[in-house]
This record gives sequence, structure tokens and C-alpha cells, in this order.
Amino acid sequence: MNKVIVISGPSGVGKTTIYKRLLNELKDNIEFSISATTRKPRENEKDGVDYYFISKEEFEKKIKNNEFVEWANVYGNYYGTLKSEIDRILKNKHCLLDIDVQGGLNVKKIFQNSFLIFIKPPSLESLKERLINRHLDNETEIEKRLAFAENEISKSKFYDFIVTNDDLEECYNTIKEKIKTII
Ligand code: 5GP
Repeated sequence: MNKVIVISGPSGVGKTTIYKRLLNELKDNIEFSISATTRKPRENEKDGVDYYFISKEEFEKKIKNNEFVEWANVYGNYYGTLKSEIDRILKNKHCLLDIDVQGGLNVKKIFQNSFLIFIKPPSLESLKERLINRHLDNETEIEKRLAFAENEISKSKFYDFIVTNDDLEECYNTIKEKIKTII
């Protein structure tokens, strides 16, 4: 039976690099579930590839119509996993989700045979450095993400597998090998 695999981790932990590589190397077996969000696209993001970028009104309509497996408000924007995406993917492949911890734990309640992976930063200081080096130079935004990260790390104990990203290559290989054993 095909599985739902969730990868969570704080913003700046290296999650995107890891799951994009996983999707590339395991593309015969795994497909990414594209979430819907009300957040504005970033420069390099495409609608229908990275996310379905929709308005707040459209999102709220989908909540009412029960179109989400789970949804959450993250950093002030709505994000949600669409039932249609998961159903479509699971017919042929395992389904990979990049969602927050709250979403991951909700997915586990619905898909009992799902597998939850959490990527942890070596420390909050190192995460802050990565956020500064990356795209965020706004102190309030950084503090908001760090507070959110701290909360996510504390709830990650309910996940099936926790891996620290001390070294990107090592972290990637650990996750890839783990996924290979469960699919
Ligand atoms: P970003 O705005 O950086 O793309 O994502 C912000 C956070 O929202 C990340 O932690 C990401 O995992 C989470 N996220 C993305 N899509 C979903 C979703 O469909 N549901 C939930 N619960 N979180 C999501």
C-alpha cells in the first residue's frame, strides 16, 4: 500500500533542498503533494508547481467545502493539503508532504500508516544564522520564525524519525535511506 511521508522542519533548516533532491532521485516511487496557500509567490516560485497560490476567499471556500485533509495558519498565511492531491498521488505512488508539525500530526491521525520525518537544526543560533544568510533580513520576521521553530522542535518528539542537519549531505543520505526502508 502506498504511504504518505511527511517531512517537517523549521524554515531555514535545509528542508527544501533535501526534498527537491529526494523527489528527483526517487521520482519513480514518490510524488510531491502541492499544497494550497494564500501566501504570495516568491520570485522563483510557480503556481501549480511549488504551491497553488489562491486568495483568502478561495481558501476559505475550500475549507467550507471540506476539500482539505488538513490546513493551518503558518506565519499569518493559510496553508493546506488538498484531498484531491493525496488521492490522485496515492493511486500510483507514495506521497511526500512538506508541511508543518501541526499538519503532520493531523495527517498521522487520518493516515495511520503515514511516516513523519522531522529535520532539526543543530541549534537555534545556527538556524538564526541561516535565516539571516538566506532571504530574511527583517528582524521581526526572523524572530517570528525562530519562535515558531522552537515550538515545532518541542512537538517533534511525536514524529517517527528525527534527524539533525549538521551536515547537509549526511542528513540527506540518512533520510533517503530511511525512506527506502519504509517504501
Ligand atoms: P513557506 O512559506 O516557507 O513555503 O512554508 C512555511 C511553512 O508552511 C513550512 O513549515 C511548510 O512546511 C508549511 N506548509 C506548507 N504547506 C503546508 C500545508 O499544506 N499544510 C501545513 N500544515 N503546513 C504547510
